[in-house]
Amino acid sequence: MSSLDHRFPELQLLNTLLERASPWLRADAISSVTVQDEELPIWCLEMGSTSPEVPAIGFFGGVHGMERIGTQVLIAWLQTLLTRLEWDEHFASLLGRMRLVFMPMVNPGGLLLSTRANPAGVDLMRSAPQDANSRVPFLVGGHRFSERLPWYRGRVGDEVPVEAQALFRVVRERLHSHAFSMAMDCHSGFGFRDRIWFPYARSTEPAPNLPDAFALRALFNRTYPNHSFYIMEPQSVSYTTHGDLWDFLYDEYLSAHGGTFLPFTLEMGSWLWMKKNPRQLFSWFGHFNPILPHRQERVLRRHITLFDFLIEAACAHEKWLPQGELRKRYRHEALVRWYRS
Ligand SMILES: [Zn+2]
Repeated sequence: MSSLDHRFPELQLLNTLLERASPWLRADAISSVTVQDEELPIWCLEMGSTSPEVPAIGFFGGVHGMERIGTQVLIAWLQTLLTRLEWDEHFASLLGRMRLVFMPMVNPGGLLLSTRANPAGVDLMRSAPQDANSRVPFLVGGHRFSERLPWYRGRVGDEVPVEAQALFRVVRERLHSHAFSMAMDCHSGFGFRDRIWFPYARSTEPAPNLPDAFALRALFNRTYPNHSFYIMEPQSVSYTTHGDLWDFLYDEYLSAHGGTFLPFTLEMGSWLWMKKNPRQLFSWFGHFNPILPHRQERVLRRHITLFDFLIEAACAHEKWLPQGELRKRYRHEALVRWYRS
């Protein structure tokens, strides 16, 4: 085991996955960052059809380096999927009808350094070139004071960080190029509950695809009534921010394409792990990641049902994307639920 493997176990896991050389998996280093004399690739892995007519779905992790559990969840799931492809003909045939994209380690420098920000101190989730429409919470909503404070956006006129550029490129080339696409970006660290957020973070106004997100939520709740631990809502219900990567990509898609792009963020509620193990309060790392092995294993399997559901739902989107009167009704119900004022 090299010293880098020791300091960065997720990279070692990812390399082991690549060494399997599965005929199903395509891997590209989209970009790289150099930290502590180590050149760290920003990987994009994918499988399935690249035809623009088929739906596409992307899973993202490690945007915030210290939230390692998101990266771990995706790598563990990728291992499962590659093993399934050795025997599961249903899943193999599904890949003929869709594109599956993974970026499990968007911010490898932050993972190596165990920081939320990238190695330059920029919070990627505040770094998109877009301001919120109204006031955001002090600091947390994104600021330009100093890279020594969390949630730093960078200076006015700075280039978008390379990690965010790599993510933009993957989303534009591999998701936006399809008539229907979804994204799920895995984070941890906010609250006691597992939250699934959708746009907007920049605005307390409803997003045009609100009825579609509402329909997906209803479909999941109806299909998996015993998975009520997720709270699915627009991010602005919790707080608003500047520079959200998914808002930026969502607005860009709306202005240039006529199809459907639904980006979601999973915020695994890590305060829950602290409540069960108060010793974690004394570990900065533990604020964002489960420490006990059985708890980590539980988190690694907790979201598989949701991820499998999203794949199947992307493939079957014509069955549940609401049209006509139903779409109007869902929009109304969503407005009443989240935008009463
Ligand atoms: Zn995060």
